[in-house]
Amino acid sequence: MKATVMHAAEDVRTEEVPDPGIEAPTDALIRIERACICGSDLWPYRSLEASEGARIMGHEAIGVVEEVGSEVSTIKKGNLVVMPFADSDGICEFCQEGLQTECVHAGFFGNGEEGLGGAQAEALRIPYADGTLYTLPTDPDEALLPSLLTLADVMGTGHHAAVTAGAGPGKSVAVVGDGAVGLCGVIAAKRLGAEQIIILGRHTERTDLAREFGATDVVAQRGEEAIERVKELTAGFGAHSVLECVGADPAVQTAIEVARPGGAVGRVGVPQSEAMPGGEASFFGNITISGGPAPVRAYIDDLLPDILDGTIEPGRVFDRTVNLDGVPDGYRAMNDREALKVMVRP
Ligand SMILES: [Zn+2]
Repeated sequence: MKATVMHAAEDVRTEEVPDPGIEAPTDALIRIERACICGSDLWPYRSLEASEGARIMGHEAIGVVEEVGSEVSTIKKGNLVVMPFADSDGICEFCQEGLQTECVHAGFFGNGEEGLGGAQAEALRIPYADGTLYTLPTDPDEALLPSLLTLADVMGTGHHAAVTAGAGPGKSVAVVGDGAVGLCGVIAAKRLGAEQIIILGRHTERTDLAREFGATDVVAQRGEEAIERVKELTAGFGAHSVLECVGADPAVQTAIEVARPGGAVGRVGVPQSEAMPGGEASFFGNITISGGPAPVRAYIDDLLPDILDGTIEPGRVFDRTVNLDGVPDGYRAMNDREALKVMVRP
């Protein structure tokens, strides 16, 4: 089959690779209907060393089940499914707590992990199919597919940032980052009833979309100026809930410093440093630091009805569609900030 293989930084190729197949009785094989390129794919795109080994990329998809192993009971051949970015067995104590990304069997697709493939491909083997996959209604309106695809990562991840930061009615929310996750964070904050939603971002076309999604204020400044501006907008104190959707040190620092005393920061940007910035600011501000890899599998029950009835339209974050041969240029376009989020239609 055809798949997207990253060999090293800025070296992404569409290649023929061996077809995946059922390996364990709990596996399913899915044919990819839609996949996409994630902002987090850009980290290896900028830094992967050839010595780290080539990997099939992609961790977000919706697909159709082609085949299931003998012990798979709820997922059936022909089902349209969401593939969350991590696999999960569905039965361990963390899965039962709704924290599937901490499953004792969790693994992250498209990350070069042993035995796990990637979704920017024609097909993918899914371990623990009953726990990992989520069955969608059959034959949804094609116009809904982009939004359904966001359930695999960005919408659930933005929602996790909002939930862990305590966004809700009467709260002021600041969203650090105007990428797809930040924009979905705005949707989530609005959906949870936040009163004020401030997005920090510098790309006008993205912050314009954020306003359509429910942002009430845009802060285009960075660093100290951004912190001052958020405080001005929040009666001098900062935001109750801060969604950190970038992961780079300056963004984490800003997120902590725009939080109001006693507030919370929900981190969903993959951290780029071992040491977390803002230690003193978070301590002296009594700031709760929360977040992590989003258990998007747990959130689909909540978010899916709002997508199906059109209440939320997270699929609007996609501004380009490519086939598998177009994926390498899709990486370039996202890295050059020419595209916000690229959908892949194999
Ligand atoms: Zn589990």
